[in-house]
Amino acid sequence: MIDPMSRILDPQTRCALAERLRYYNELGIYDFYRREIPQTEQNPEAAQYEQEASEPMTPKRAQIAPASNHHNQVATLAQNPEFTTSDPARALQLIREDLGDCTRCVLHKQGRKQIVFGVGNPDAELMFIGEAPGADEDQQGEPFVGRAGQLLTNMIKAMGLSREQVYIANIIKCRPPNNRTPERDECETCSPFLMRQVAAIKPKVIVALGAVAARTLLALNESMSNLRGRWYEFRPTGVISNDPGWTGAKLAVTYHPAFLLRDPRQKKETWKDLQMVMKELGLPLPTKAAE
Ligand code: URA
Repeated sequence: MIDPMSRILDPQTRCALAERLRYYNELGIYDFYRREIPQTEQNPEAAQYEQEASEPMTPKRAQIAPASNHHNQVATLAQNPEFTTSDPARALQLIREDLGDCTRCVLHKQGRKQIVFGVGNPDAELMFIGEAPGADEDQQGEPFVGRAGQLLTNMIKAMGLSREQVYIANIIKCRPPNNRTPERDECETCSPFLMRQVAAIKPKVIVALGAVAARTLLALNESMSNLRGRWYEFRPTGVISNDPGWTGAKLAVTYHPAFLLRDPRQKKETWKDLQMVMKELGLPLPTKAAE
């Protein structure tokens, strides 16, 4: 699928820009100013995209609006503190500090105990992204630690990996009351931090767990059956990684573990998705068990 940003900046330009910004940052220059470009000079496709993005979202549209202006993208990038380091662990720390004791959306006053930032290997090749913390996660401050989390841990083990080798996060970082589905504005407010985490970790592969994660990350409002079973090119919206060699991750969609607890028959399908991921990562596939 075509990432809207790729219509605005081609990968080479993005890399060159990232390198240039890093160089400026190393010199201690962080502030960049935007030159207004006359409408006629602008990329017509970009202009069209901006117009589309400014329209109200219908239910057919994604839960987050991708950032629409490349000048703003540059400014955002330059201001992100993690851009000054090439160490993913440090970058994650800086993003966490920037998030602070977040009060950016209503969830901070709707019973959340703590922010659930994300957990795992800052150098992970594989990242799992779920929807939102539940009660157990809110209690413990770690994603996927309840019943669904136990199943996710088993799925990771079945792939020949451990939780410590991968990185796990959610679209939003605070528990919605009664585990309701996150609202669009909550996703919009929170997901830029997730995008920065992705850009810091630079995974090879992302697995979106469930429809909310998949639709939000891909800006598609398709059914799970349409979303699963194929690869997507994913670039985090609104940030450019400071590693010019990283041009994005491959993204696959599978069922949410909480859904699998309710409908275990779908585990077989999920295993197919995970095997597709294992193949991509060069992980050994289990030999077929005797029938
Ligand atoms: N469900 C999610 O989507 N995320 C969690 O962290 C736990 C349950």
